[in-house]
Amino acid sequence: MSECIFCKIAGGEIPCRKVYEDDDVLAFHDINPVAPVHFMLVPKLHLPSLMDAGRQHEALLGKMLLLAPRLAAEQGLDNGFRTVINTGKGGGQEVFHLHIHIIGGGNIPPMVRRS
Ligand code: AMP
Ligand code: ZN
Repeated sequence: MSECIFCKIAGGEIPCRKVYEDDDVLAFHDINPVAPVHFMLVPKLHLPSLMDAGRQHEALLGKMLLLAPRLAAEQGLDNGFRTVINTGKGGGQEVFHLHIHIIGGGNIPPMVRRS
């Protein structure tokens, strides 16, 4: 069995607060939300990061991006939302199973603070 926490969630081994599920993807609320709505959209396939994606994942990634606004609207984010994909150590990624953060419903500050 995989040691990956998001694979364990996708496999039902670790519980989550589910937002959406189909054969290819799972969406669930972040355990440590940064805004009133903060959930994660992940492929069921273990793909460590966007840097590991190739042409064979084009349809899956496209599906995830197109699902994001639909799921966001279902969570009440009809005025917009932020999507974040942290990629690699240099991108601040902590869980190495590709995921799209979908965040909104509060005061969303500029993405990168300018000094
Ligand atoms: P990242 O820094 O982009 O890798 O984000 C990892 C995210 O996963 C963080 O926002 C965590 O709060 C979230 N997270 C970690 N473990 C869990 C879990 N068991 N259930 C839901 N979210 C989690
Ligand atoms: Zn995984």
